[in-house]
Amino acid sequence: MTFGGVHALDNVSFSITPGSVHALIGPNGAGKSTCFNVITGVYTAAAGQVLLDGMDITRDRPHRRCRHGMARTFQNIVLARDMTVRDNLLVARHHLGRAGIPATALGLPAARRERRRDLARVTEVADFIGITGALDDLVRTLPYGTQKQVEVARALCTDPRILLLDEPVAGMNDGETEQMAGLVSRVRDELGLSVLLVEHHMGLVMQLADRITVLSFGRRIADGTVTEVQADPAVIEAYLGT
Ligand code: ADP
Ligand code: MG
Repeated sequence: MTFGGVHALDNVSFSITPGSVHALIGPNGAGKSTCFNVITGVYTAAAGQVLLDGMDITRDRPHRRCRHGMARTFQNIVLARDMTVRDNLLVARHHLGRAGIPATALGLPAARRERRRDLARVTEVADFIGITGALDDLVRTLPYGTQKQVEVARALCTDPRILLLDEPVAGMNDGETEQMAGLVSRVRDELGLSVLLVEHHMGLVMQLADRITVLSFGRRIADGTVTEVQADPAVIEAYLGT
């Protein structure tokens, strides 16, 4: 991926083991967000491939990647602030719907069944996250940490196989960070999802990651377990050099 003359990503390759937490780290400007956006389809790379369970999704638009089982959150919260939590979560189910707008508008049985199923799934996800008590609240009335949880809930409502989190604990206090760490590990351990985590908070990365890929100046400089990466001279240099 290049912007003007800048190689934001150059020959970067890595794979995420199903059911694991994979962290993508690197100094500022290393290419983490660009990589995240290439994987989710916000950007189309000049070369290379994105594979999901072996399926080539390189040319798919973001909503199609979502339908194939890829869900994401944003570094800055992107929620409908004047809607309730429940409605924000229901919107996330929309892309799975089969009933269509006319059937929904007419309240036909198929659409009503779908609505019941969606409401049940939304409740289930809210229970899992621990935000059931906030379902009827407007998003803008909720504390920052809870809004971040709603974003994860919305991603889970699309029934993904892989969840991509862009700096999920940025701006959080210690308590909120601990809660998010617990949530991410439960997403892996209890739901069996794969998680790609872009994160600056090294404590969180070391606590959660099964594997780490390190970028620096658009290149992959290391890839391995926490212990391997921590001991890697190239990684130490990349971090100390900035
Ligand atoms: P990180 O998320 O690791 O901090 P980014 O992926 O945001 O890094 O940026 C990688 C490089 O690409 C940087 O040099 C940045 O200035 C450049 N870059 C990122 N996005 C754009 C863009 N939309 N237009 C131009 N340059 C960009
Ligand atoms: Mg970034």
